[in-house]
Amino acid sequence: MEREPSFEKTKKGEKLQGEATWPAGELRHYLRALAYNTPEKNFCLEKDKFPQQIVLSHAWHEIFNRMRAATAEDAHERWAMIGVNTDRDRLYVSRDFVRAQKPRSDIDAESMLNKVVAAFNRQIPHLVGDIHSHPQFGFRLLEKWLGQDCFSLRDFYSFLYPSEYAPSFGAMFLVGPNENRVVFRSRETELLPSAFDEQLFESIWQNRDLFTIRPNIAIARRYRLVLYGGKPGQTLMRLFP
Ligand SMILES: [Zn+2]
Repeated sequence: MEREPSFEKTKKGEKLQGEATWPAGELRHYLRALAYNTPEKNFCLEKDKFPQQIVLSHAWHEIFNRMRAATAEDAHERWAMIGVNTDRDRLYVSRDFVRAQKPRSDIDAESMLNKVVAAFNRQIPHLVGDIHSHPQFGFRLLEKWLGQDCFSLRDFYSFLYPSEYAPSFGAMFLVGPNENRVVFRSRETELLPSAFDEQLFESIWQNRDLFTIRPNIAIARRYRLVLYGGKPGQTLMRLFP
């Protein structure tokens, strides 16, 4: 029989709600709990119950720093999946990153899918999130302009698209040149209708204060997402809500 999840109960819901900070280790518990999500049952936290700060363990920093360094070296984006095993008691982050074929271009979907299938075959069937990097352009001002530390419209589109293969998906991490960011789906998040086209999504959100954090926040507000950011090596601070 399948055990019910219960991040809130096991972690003492009342404590969690009022708690301003998730200590190191809490993020891992939450991501594991996401593996219980199904299209019918939603175990994402309500958006107001997310903490103000998320302390990252050494293991997360190590992954983010390694991905940032690899991306800085050749300007190829990297991608890693975050999965949970069949018993839902272990979190798994792929150590060998998928690399984009060309500099400053997207990672092809097939390479990512291969990783997910390989993990599935190793008893890691629940895809709860992923991590990807954005390359830098060498000029600090240009990077700011190009919003490399922000999620792109394409990132949000894929995050909000309801994939039947990944009903547990709930967290997208970004390793930017100067920042770590993460966006979570909340209990209140509505995903896009499955017929919603990427070009339509982009046309709706394009040209809204491009190249700043503001479009990311506008999208988070519209879809009731929870957004965090922090400098490399530091605690993630809630940016929205
Ligand atoms: Zn991206």
